[in-house]
Amino acid sequence: MAGERVAKGLSEDYPRALGPGNAMNAPDILPKDRLFLAETHDVFNVSRPLVDLNLYLEDRALQEAVGREGAAWAHDDLAAFGRHIGSADYLALGALANRFGPELETHDRFGHRVDLVSFHPAYHALIKTSIEHGLHASPWTEPGPGAHVARAARFYLHTQVEAGHGCPITMTFAAVPALRTTPALAALWEPKITARVYDPRNLPDGAKHGLTIGMAMTEKQGGSDVRANTTRAYPTGAGGAGQAYELVGHKYFVSAPMCDAFLVLAQAPGGLSCFLLPRWRPDGSKNPLQLLRLKRKMGNVSNASSETELRGALAWMVGEEGRGVRTIIEMVAMTRFDCMIGSSAGQRAAAAQALHHCSIRSAFGRVLSQQPLMANVLADLVLESEGALALTMRMARAMDRRADPHEDLLVRLGTAVGKYWICKRTPNHAYEAMECIGGSGVMEDSPMPRLFRESPVNAIWEGSGNVQCLDVLRAMQKTPAVVEAFFRELEGARGASALLDRWVVALQQELGDLADAEYRARDVVDRMALALQAALLLQHAPAAVSDAFCASRLAERSVRNYGTLPRGVDCAAIIARATPRA
Ligand SMILES: Cc1cc2nc3c(=O)[nH]c(=O)nc-3n(C[C@H](O)[C@H](O)[C@H](O)COP(=O)(O)OP(=O)(O)OC[C@H]3O[C@@H](n4cnc5c(N)ncnc54)[C@H](O)[C@@H]3O)c2cc1C
Repeated sequence: MAGERVAKGLSEDYPRALGPGNAMNAPDILPKDRLFLAETHDVFNVSRPLVDLNLYLEDRALQEAVGREGAAWAHDDLAAFGRHIGSADYLALGALANRFGPELETHDRFGHRVDLVSFHPAYHALIKTSIEHGLHASPWTEPGPGAHVARAARFYLHTQVEAGHGCPITMTFAAVPALRTTPALAALWEPKITARVYDPRNLPDGAKHGLTIGMAMTEKQGGSDVRANTTRAYPTGAGGAGQAYELVGHKYFVSAPMCDAFLVLAQAPGGLSCFLLPRWRPDGSKNPLQLLRLKRKMGNVSNASSETELRGALAWMVGEEGRGVRTIIEMVAMTRFDCMIGSSAGQRAAAAQALHHCSIRSAFGRVLSQQPLMANVLADLVLESEGALALTMRMARAMDRRADPHEDLLVRLGTAVGKYWICKRTPNHAYEAMECIGGSGVMEDSPMPRLFRESPVNAIWEGSGNVQCLDVLRAMQKTPAVVEAFFRELEGARGASALLDRWVVALQQELGDLADAEYRARDVVDRMALALQAALLLQHAPAAVSDAFCASRLAERSVRNYGTLPRGVDCAAIIARATPRA
């Protein structure tokens, strides 16, 4: 309340009496009981934690996407999940898992090699929830219409609580299609990989009820270019798919090293191949995958990422010899899709914090979200987040319908385009949301620093930005039908916006001339992503959202900050639709 006394409970004379030189007299002037009860000020016009909310029911865009893309059947389940993980106690797990990061022990006190990473109980609790709700496997164990969509929605919600633990969940989920290339291995491993049991015990796979899977491709001399891998694989017998090898070399980034097994790339006699490498050998001895140290990461802190050496580690070949990239790409395609979900979730979490704060805090006599310039910024953040979600959930539906050639082609192109664009747009989005909150948004006891530090990670791993754009080009060159599928996908919105229609014509010209394509790849993929997002929003979002998206993203001006929406945008409607109520 403006004008309220700062030194509450003290007499009007007190500040003057306590003026320079008089401080020592204070005890004589004030009755003692009043001095000890003194309060310096009231706390008012401040925000409160965004907790005890239903993360699903407070997200209208998500509910619409779930229904539209084929998973309306999952609504009740998602509502129960959203309530559970939106409680204050549950949301606290995300902060705890990051405040108390993982620790490595290479040896026990007697000198035996152990290679153990210990995590805060909050991290285990998050993984347990993910596994018990099928985030690691539900489309494989319960395939059918909407299976990927429902799983994507759950992953989107849970990532808003905590992103780092999603790494092993994603890798476990993504390993299944790669493993299926070798049915004998899949038959042995898949039941426990897909079981809804989190079993973190450090035991051989045979003694456990549920298994998690990691991946190890990157080496010091090459991450994007895995052909540079020098780790060697020596057959212990005949060799070939499903057969045993021993691996010697190193892997420079192995995240979630407490996983029960890893998909690993190594040079076999017949070329770069994919292997399944367990933590334990079948005879119960420790497999020599040795952890040298944990990375000190700026974000993704709850999740351990290790540097390792393989000293004759036993592994079985997955897929054909010499076709390692082809095999592991089945896994990588899924992890890239999860990066889309994860970064869309990061955007939603950041926007939700900003909207919540600005709906409470006033400055210069008005609630921030009603100040015209702040409304412009907030609405812009919401548009970005809605575009990200729409594209992500459309890709989820395409995954559910891969038997349809159009959908299959869309998966190939759309996940590369979407992974690049959504992940790339997230860091600045997180920063702008932080700025909406002001100084408190920078403080470590706010969720914003964690969202901000997490925000670049998805763009860099699983194919960094340039690599994604080059992958889009590769897809268009190798399978020209993906380009037709892309334009077919935009057809549904034809005529809905003159801006989009013009944009599509320009894109057609652009894609018709692939001279200097590598040099121009980012520009081309940016335009493709915006076209897909605009087309989806025009077909499915309220006009306030889709019109503003097109007016701001498809207009001539190419360099813009958030908060530069043009005149005529109904910011209030966009903000009202997205503001969560705790
Ligand atoms: C937190 C974290 C966890 C990770 N966990 C794992 C893991 O569990 N398993 C695993 O295998 N890896 C993991 N990685 C590694 C990650 O996948 C690699 O860092 C990534 O693939 C990039 O490889 P690099 O670091 O060697 O960079 P480089 O390959 O050297 O790339 C550097 C830059 O060059 C660009 N570039 C590359 N080629 C071209 C080109 N032809 N044209 C233009 N630009 C190009 C890239 O886009 C990138 O921006 C993790 C990384 C991080 C940050």
